Order: sequence, then C-alpha cells, then structure tokens
Amino acid sequence: MDEVEQIKQRLDIVELISSYLTVKKAGASYRALCPFHNEKTPSMMISPEKQIFKCFGCGEGGDVFSFVMKMENLNFPETLEMLAQRTGVKLTRRTPERTEQEAKEKDRKTRLFQINAIAAQVFHRILLTHPSAKEALTYLKKRNLTQQTMKDFMIGYAPSSRFLFAFLKKKGFTDSEITASGSPDRFYKRIIFPITDVMDNVLGFTGRVLDANIQPKYLNTPETIIFHKGRILYNLVRARGDIKLQKTTVVVEGQMDVISSFQAGVKNVVATSGTALTEEHLQALYRYTPNVTFAFDSDTAGLNTAKKAYEMALADGFNVKMVDLNKYKDPGEMIETDPKLWITAVKTAQPVIDWYFNLAFRQNKDFSSQQKKEIAKELLPVIRKIPDSIEQAHYVEILAKKLAIPDRIIFDALNKVIDTKAKKSDSQGLSAISGKTKILAEEILIGVLIRHQEVLEESVKNIATVDFTDPWSQKVYSLVLNWYNESSKKDKLLRNLELKLKTPDFSKLEMVLMEVERDYANEAPVVAKDIIVHIKQQKREKLKEHFAREISLAESQGDKEKLKSLMKEFQDAIR
Ligand SMILES: [Zn+2]
Repeated sequence: MDEVEQIKQRLDIVELISSYLTVKKAGASYRALCPFHNEKTPSMMISPEKQIFKCFGCGEGGDVFSFVMKMENLNFPETLEMLAQRTGVKLTRRTPERTEQEAKEKDRKTRLFQINAIAAQVFHRILLTHPSAKEALTYLKKRNLTQQTMKDFMIGYAPSSRFLFAFLKKKGFTDSEITASGSPDRFYKRIIFPITDVMDNVLGFTGRVLDANIQPKYLNTPETIIFHKGRILYNLVRARGDIKLQKTTVVVEGQMDVISSFQAGVKNVVATSGTALTEEHLQALYRYTPNVTFAFDSDTAGLNTAKKAYEMALADGFNVKMVDLNKYKDPGEMIETDPKLWITAVKTAQPVIDWYFNLAFRQNKDFSSQQKKEIAKELLPVIRKIPDSIEQAHYVEILAKKLAIPDRIIFDALNKVIDTKAKKSDSQGLSAISGKTKILAEEILIGVLIRHQEVLEESVKNIATVDFTDPWSQKVYSLVLNWYNESSKKDKLLRNLELKLKTPDFSKLEMVLMEVERDYANEAPVVAKDIIVHIKQQKREKLKEHFAREISLAESQGDKEKLKSLMKEFQDAIR
C-alpha cells in the first residue's frame, strides 16, 4: 500500500473537514457551508462511505487530499507532508510531482522556519528569565498578561545587545540564510510577538517598543519568502477551533488586543500584522465562516480602517458585525478595565448599519448640511445592500428622521447609489445557481442504473453505448454493458468499474452517485426511466433523419430495390 493510501486509511474525511468547518449530518452524508465559494445555505456534501466531498454550488470536490490542498493553499507534495505528519505515516520516497526546484525551495523555507523558531525561543527565554527583560516583563504584567498567556503566545524580549546573529551562525546558519529569514537580530529593546502560520511555523515577528520615544512603535519582519503580511492573520492557528464554534471571527487591530482578548476568553480573535486588511485575509477567513466581527480602534484612523474593512467584507459576501468600544480606545483598554465589558461588547456586536447609526448620532443632534451629506454618503451604500425592502425602508425612515430630511429625498439618493461591488456578488450568486444544473441527464442515468437493478435492466434492453452523447457517460456505460454481459460477474458492478476506470473518471462517478443520492433519493428510478424514454426518443429522431436522408437519396437515384429495403429496415428499427 502506498503512502497516500495509508494516509487515507488513517483519516476520516468527516473528521478532517470538521476540524475546519461546522459539519451537520444529513441522511447518510454530512453537509457543510462550502469554504470555497460564498454561500449562506450549505451545499457541500461529505460522504463518509466514499470518503469524498462535493460542493453543489461551485463544483469543488474530491478526497481528503483535494480538500486540504484547496483549504490550505498547498500543492500536492506539501499536502502529502502535512497529512503524513498528522497521521504519523512515514514518507520514505519523494513524490515524483516534487521537482528538484520545489524540493530546494522547500528545504530553504524549512531553514528559515528553523532560524525563526530558534529566535522565538531565545527571545522568549530572555523575557522570562533575563534581568535585561525586567522592564518588559513589568509592562506585560501591568497589561494583566499572565505567565501562561506569555507562554501560549511565546512572547519574547529582544535586549539591546545584538548577540543573535552570532548565535545563529554558531548554530550553522549562513549569513544569507539569516538575511533571507528577515534577520531576527534586527529587533532590539522590543517586546517580541512571533507570528506563525496555521501549522505553527514561525514566519516572522512584530516588535513593540518599550520606550515611547523610539520610532516606529511597531517593527515588523520585512517581506520574505515565508512572510507575506497581506496573507498572514495573527493567532489564526489558535483561533481556528473557536472561530468554528462561535461561528464568527473577531478581527482586531493589534497583537496586544488579540492576546488580551484570548486571555479574557474571547478566543476566536485574529489581527492583521503590520498591514490593513486585504482580500487575501478575508479569503482566508471565509474558509472558516462567512461571519466577521470587527473591533477596530475608536480613533479617526480606526474608523477609517473599519470603514474600508467592512466595505470590503460586505462586498465579499460576509455578514459583518461591529463591536461598539464605547469610550474605550481599543479592545486592550476595554479588557484592562474589565474583561467582562469586552465579552459583552463582542456578544452584542451590531450589524454595520446599526453600529454606524449609533456612532454618527451618539453625540450630535444638529448637523450642518455638509455633515448630513457625509452621513448619508456613508450609510446609503450600506442600506442599499440590505436585501429585504421593508428593512431597507425602515432604515431610510430612521435616517430621514435623524437628519430631518424627507424620506422621499433619501429614497431618491438611495436609488442613485451605484454599487458595482454588489453587482459582482450578484453575478457570483447566479453562477453558483447555474452550477447546480450542470449534471447531465445521461450522467444521472448512469448514477441511477448502478444503484437500481430494475433501471439497469431497462437501460440494457433499450440503450446502446452509442446512444449516449456525453463521452464520459459512453465510457462508463460500455463498461457497464461489458460487466452485465459477463456471465461470472466476479465483482459487484461498482467495484468492477473502480478497477476498470481511470481515477479521474471513477472520482467523477462517485460524485455523480452523491449528486443523484442528494437530488433524487427515492424518485431516482422514476427520473431515470424518464431519461431512458428521452434517450430512446432521441435515438428514434436520429434514425428517422438517417433514413430520411438515405431514402431521399435512393429516390433521387431511382433505385427502387434500395428504397424498398430501406423502408423495411426503417420499420424494423423504429418498432
Ligand atoms: Zn462551493
């Protein structure tokens, strides 16, 4: 048995997918919200029997390997390695898919991970034990962080003496490797937050100054071949499970906010690292849940960040909620005052629109015309996105009242909001629906005749391989006929097809079986018999056309003998 098979045997696809997504039982299969396209009702089916998954919205499907590749954005060798690690299967051979170039790149990345892992450990040990870290430790304790939290997050301290470079050299790393890792020795006199990926590899660091006079306040590892700020979400590795449980991701601005929140018990929390939220970040989050709760700083910069973030997230189809930080500057400050405030604030996070209403109308009652314009400009696109027209009218009314402007004018303005992003997601929605009808009638028939003896008999009696127009269906059907006509029938039909079909063709068959099971269940034989009738009709039409051509040819040539025999053949054929 090869390694791939060994891994597959040790993994249960339902269990594996549940470690990423909320999975619900639905008959013999399981169902989940598809992480690969935007949707609100689950159309991803998982079959424990066949150990495969299939999304009926976007068409994504396959086995555990395909799932992890897609989910973690890995290529096949990387996935093999990850799943081998997870299942404890020892990989003896290099997979042939892995070219020498890829292997080199992988080895290089591994070296950089090692450098960062060592640096993280050294910084961490210094924080906990070295006298030079006393001030840093005091600061963290003042922020109420426990020793356990510092350990959980591997928080460290980079002292003023730059010993790390020499230390890493002594460990056998070259100058160029240390530089390529982003030179962790660049940090000094800073509290260090290691940043890891979901496999817990240390990708880089953020260093925070203790002395407020030193700029910048936060220093990050520069972009390297392993550290891409636009993609990395701080704490995703620890937050994944809770994101799944709480069905939302809380996104905050800084690492300290993440850590305090985590310690306070709100663990489904992540932050971007040294960059604003990007589409890639959102994509990564969408894998886990389409719900996001933003808690950005309450200053002007924070508001701008929040605005950009929620606009992007709404356009991407997220359900967005906003945490009201009230008078507190950031989540960290709120938690320091009382962790319960934060827990409640997250629980009572509001839809963007309510949050914005609260914010805009909290202090002010009288607005200048300019302010009114600003508020309307801000809120109208959000109101426009509300799918329910009654709810939409409700908000228009509130806005009109608060701004002391007639409803009608607000409605007019609302209709003028041209929302290109909304159009984008509409068309995505349409393609998702049309994707559901992709399965061909011929494929359905194949799926049903494998499961239902009476349909198989009926089909064999009435339909030949050539009567199928779809090449895949033809291929499978010819094997079905071979099996049917084989007197011994050593294997069951499905097993026989598994042995004879190429892997992609057989995977497709498994998908078709799942689709048929899901869409037709008990009606499957009835549907299939209709399809048989339809194929027979088509066959008859084709025959008629064929004979019509032949007959008119014979007539034009005045070949009476030929004409006679053609007529007879035709009668026989359509009988
Ligand atoms: Zn999908």
